[in-house]
Amino acid sequence: MTTLGITDGRVLRPDLSVEEADVLVDREGGEVLDVGPDAGRDADERLDASGGLVVPGLVNAHTHAAMTLLRGYADDKPLESWLREDVWPAEAELTLDDIAAGTRLAALEMIRSGTTGFADMYFHVPRVAEVVETAGLRARLGHGVVTVGKDEAAAWADVEESLDVAETVRETSDRIETAFMPHSLTTVGEEYLREGVARARDLDVPVHIHANETRGEVDPLVEEHGVRPLEYAREVGLLEPEDFLAHGVHVDETEVELLAETGASVVHCPASNMKLASGMAPVQRLLDAGVGVGLGTDGAASNNDLSLLGELRDAAMLGKLAADDASAVAAPDAVRMATAGSADALSLPGGRIAPGEAADCIVVDLDAAHLTPVHDPVSHLAYAAAASDVRHTVCDGRVLMRDREVLTLDADAVRAEAADRARDLVTRAN
Ligand SMILES: [Zn+2]
Repeated sequence: MTTLGITDGRVLRPDLSVEEADVLVDREGGEVLDVGPDAGRDADERLDASGGLVVPGLVNAHTHAAMTLLRGYADDKPLESWLREDVWPAEAELTLDDIAAGTRLAALEMIRSGTTGFADMYFHVPRVAEVVETAGLRARLGHGVVTVGKDEAAAWADVEESLDVAETVRETSDRIETAFMPHSLTTVGEEYLREGVARARDLDVPVHIHANETRGEVDPLVEEHGVRPLEYAREVGLLEPEDFLAHGVHVDETEVELLAETGASVVHCPASNMKLASGMAPVQRLLDAGVGVGLGTDGAASNNDLSLLGELRDAAMLGKLAADDASAVAAPDAVRMATAGSADALSLPGGRIAPGEAADCIVVDLDAAHLTPVHDPVSHLAYAAAASDVRHTVCDGRVLMRDREVLTLDADAVRAEAADRARDLVTRAN
């Protein structure tokens, strides 16, 4: 065994207290061995955390990584027309190499901004998995199924591909898990949902789906099925404890109760919800009811970045506005959402720094003008820290970024390739 010591910093513990301590990590086993004063002094390799805060690696519980290629491509439109007029036509032109390049760019941005794990719904998932493996991140990946507008054979083929990906891609890496990922309750027909979800249970994989994102999606669903969307979701076999739903903006009291009862989690995506004017998720109500809540950026086209530190701030701010209460979604709630909340929602290791937990952690510099003075480091994480404050990123015991230099990807080459491919893609789409 060789060890990594993250030394001389302050450490955010699972109860969100902060103490001066080192973190000692088993590099091969990818596990935290010890947290305490001088615990890292004799480690084989050291990472200097002085002046910084050691935080669990952030977990982005809902994104579409390759959509970095469409960052800033079509802004300022509502969800339905944005998807139909801009996103789907561009996505129809994506090649496998485009998806790999977009995912690499996302991985670079995630490592830089302190994200060590994520959930991704996209296409050509084996290529996505290769990038995740090279970058050194942890992920739960899936193929997004859409059946509307397809003939029966094409629709079933899409369901089959998602199930096949769920079964096979998880075998490719210790850091990669999978899920069955129907796109949403309205873009996948009922018979496909029922069959796909039942088979996902046989494969023992969770289901990830967009749900209750906009009014325009909820109202017709209620009209067609005569029940609230999440009641319909349960009827088709969803809402097992391992399932996680993106957005959950327009949920009523009965649906909050249903989520609490079933144990399914919600992934809050505040920036995307604001940008597409989808609405304000009742996050404090979900937390009060005991629903598991994680945090996600959604794709870069509706955010427009993948920084969870920015998302934390949005979650804390929007949560107050939604509840009309300045004490709602307090700083510790937002920090918990982006760490243990997201890791638990995805059933992935990480989210807590303690012996026996996965060695997924980051160091956030606190010695910056915008972070001075430090009355409360948790407050700084929620309200003032930025992606560029992340100094080191460690996932599974391996250093992915040291002193702001990403070690697993060639940053300049990744940026150049993604920019070239994005330009070509948009030309083809138009
Ligand atoms: Zn999404």
